[in-house]
Amino acid sequence: MVFFLENTFAEVIGKSVRGRKIEAFVYGRGNETLLFVGGIHGDERQGVEILTRFRRMVANTPEIRKNIRVVIVPKANPDGIRRGTRGNARGVDINRNFPTSSFTTNYHKKAYYPGRQAASEPETKALIKLIQKYAPSLVVTIHAQLHCMMVEGDVWEIARRMQYYNHYPLVAELDYETPGSFGQYCLERGIPMITLEVPRIPHHALWEQNKRALVEVLRHSPGKLAHQRMLIESKKTPSLFEALQRQDWYLWRNMFTNMYEWKKQDAEGNTALHYALKRGDVPLALWLIERGIHLATTNTKGWSPLFEAAYWGHGEVVKQLLKKGISPEERDPYGWTPLIIAAQRGHKDIVRVLVEAGAKVNTQDIYGYSALMEAVRCQHKDIVEYLLARGADPYQTNCYGQTASRQAILARSTNTLILLGGGQ
Ligand SMILES: [Zn+2]
Repeated sequence: MVFFLENTFAEVIGKSVRGRKIEAFVYGRGNETLLFVGGIHGDERQGVEILTRFRRMVANTPEIRKNIRVVIVPKANPDGIRRGTRGNARGVDINRNFPTSSFTTNYHKKAYYPGRQAASEPETKALIKLIQKYAPSLVVTIHAQLHCMMVEGDVWEIARRMQYYNHYPLVAELDYETPGSFGQYCLERGIPMITLEVPRIPHHALWEQNKRALVEVLRHSPGKLAHQRMLIESKKTPSLFEALQRQDWYLWRNMFTNMYEWKKQDAEGNTALHYALKRGDVPLALWLIERGIHLATTNTKGWSPLFEAAYWGHGEVVKQLLKKGISPEERDPYGWTPLIIAAQRGHKDIVRVLVEAGAKVNTQDIYGYSALMEAVRCQHKDIVEYLLARGADPYQTNCYGQTASRQAILARSTNTLILLGGGQ
């Protein structure tokens, strides 16, 4: 059944065990489809709330969905949502019920009951049907409580753009197995997934954190990024930045001999040094630093080269920038410091270099997160240990009143909890 609503089609893609409609809201036209799914776990209402607001926004602002089709399923598990349970009406965890190579009927906790066989549940079947029908270029799902973004497949560039707005740490995997998950199912079909694990804070605050991040997905979809790359690669005489993006060392080393070229910035304020760091060209970065070109220039996202180096883990570059007098206490608009970033990303060598150069260990960002909390959330045990030894305060709280210990519990990180002395 298909009916017209708010200039779009609300498509019933299936019915739950109890006969509740599972709806997909389809907006816009285009060769590329982006799929957003919430409420797979009925006790994680956050996804339902965020995607309901997002759906309204996408419906009312056609310009953000130009050339793409946006499919939104706010309530993938309507019975579970109604009852407030993780599983569906039969107690099956939909996120363990997908027909993947790893599917197993074994489970160690009732909450993860995968069902009697793969794809036994109507809720699972509805999502499979949707994937088959639209073949999305990317799936974004929303879950709750771990406070991170899990990236499956080659969509790190998009995830990083989202991260700038929602501030969540990026991880490649969680520290527990998820056989038969929706993400695994998509990945086995070549479809990447970004899973938002949102923290336990009020729904309106979650929406504020994530609305820009979700719009970034529409602006920089995998198809749009690939198209952009293709355009750049087809140019015979690219600009400096295009050559840097192409990683065409021969080209830029021979074409751009005029120093004036190297002082330019691209539309997002990035300098050649930003590019070199993002692309991992440490020799080029050091060459630019030696010449003192744009050592402290920030791009439009508020990041100077020191931030980029701390993010990407270029320890030697961090050292050289500090030697040139760049302050380790620089802050971006979110109040992040290079130390907070390095702690989050797990670059222990950089954490050490920054602290030794005088970076304050207890600086907090605008949400109240410190380097210690970031290391805890991202489960970098050795960095937690190091920061505690260098005077990091385990009793500081973020703006939600959570200490580092509390965050270790939310991240299910027993190792770091022990380091912090348990409790909370
Ligand atoms: Zn979940």
